[in-house]
Amino acid sequence: MQIPGHIDPVPVSRDTVARADGRLDLVGLPRDEIRAALEAAGLDVRQAKLRAKQIWHWIYNRGATRFADMTDIAKAQHPWLEERFVIGRPEVVEAQVSTDGTRKWLLRAPDAQDYEMVFIPDADRGTLCVSSQVGCTLNCRFCHTGTMRLVRNLTTPEIVGQVMLARDALGEWPSQPEGRMLTNIVMMGMGEPLYNFDNVRDALKIVMDGDGLALSKRRITLSTSGVVPMMARAGQEIGVNLAVSLHAVTKEVRDEIVPINRKYGIEELLQACADYPGANNARRITFEYVMLKDKNDSDADAHELVRLIRKYKLPAKVNLIPFNPWPGAPYDTSTPERVQRFSDIVFQAGISAPVRTPRGRDIDAACGQLKTSAERKSRAELDRLAEEKLAALG
Ligand code: SAH
Ligand code: SF4
Repeated sequence: MQIPGHIDPVPVSRDTVARADGRLDLVGLPRDEIRAALEAAGLDVRQAKLRAKQIWHWIYNRGATRFADMTDIAKAQHPWLEERFVIGRPEVVEAQVSTDGTRKWLLRAPDAQDYEMVFIPDADRGTLCVSSQVGCTLNCRFCHTGTMRLVRNLTTPEIVGQVMLARDALGEWPSQPEGRMLTNIVMMGMGEPLYNFDNVRDALKIVMDGDGLALSKRRITLSTSGVVPMMARAGQEIGVNLAVSLHAVTKEVRDEIVPINRKYGIEELLQACADYPGANNARRITFEYVMLKDKNDSDADAHELVRLIRKYKLPAKVNLIPFNPWPGAPYDTSTPERVQRFSDIVFQAGISAPVRTPRGRDIDAACGQLKTSAERKSRAELDRLAEEKLAALG
């Protein structure tokens, strides 16, 4: 049977959209490019190097958005910089807060495409869930993001911009090693990060830079649905923690719910996990497992999961995610008893298998619920156009 949904990526890359005022946004540029831009604008090599270092510190350590605040740069140079450069932020269309404290932002890119980010506060830490694409090409059947029609890669500035905005919103400037609310980042928002590898890597390099946002790679997790050919590079070139959206232990079920499985099967995926650089008992690979009623939640599934993890000798933990429903979703959430039983089986085999409490469900901020209103808007747009046409017909 042909299962609906395409599995091939359609990464639509795009050059950074030029600002209408012609100024260059420095956020998201690597240090070298900031230096090169200053040189191209007329500074000599030595000065460009020094200014690039200072500006970098102001942007990422202090959170400055105006050159006028950069007190170690000569005042006379502020207007010159201001004329040519800008320190931007994504446009916020909507900001929501859940009854459990989870916050969600709807952001809009200059080409009018929308994407979302979510902040999840906990007692001892706070996690920012960052998007890597507008929509997702992968169409996992339980994921709302996969149903979005429009897909494009987010640029490096758009990815870094999410972290900058969150820091603004939390009032967390200057960057401090201790006492932060934003302690962790997960690449688990909209999109498949390994289909946007270069931009995600470049963005995370900026986020990890010691003289800036300075988040340790141990506090960053990249989640993939299983883009096997990119996993080794992710380990080598980014080096963050790996999470893998496994969700099923048989070919039949995983083919149905995570269609990329038809391209890269479970065994291949688990081998790539075993080969993932840097994975060990102190830094285990997380397997995400969404609990779908009568689909992937049986005792046999739990035992098979244990067998597979053992077979590949994986330093693993399993995150059990109760399915977060969305309108028209083709699955139900497993009962709490079933989820607990599944967790117990895995746990009894010596593998940690906590059940994740869904966060921010009331504002559609929970895993897999992210889907912007772009389609609803375009419907409204269509209605408006239809009305205009009718009016014109008189
Ligand atoms: N594309 C990447 C990262 C984003 S999804 C990936 O798939 O790994 C983050 C996690 O939420 C993934 O494990 C995803 O499978 C899970 N998820 C998607 N839809 C969900 C839903 N409706 N309920 C619970 N978890 C969901
Ligand atoms: Fe894309 Fe991940 Fe959603 Fe699958 S679960 S459709 S890979 S965002």
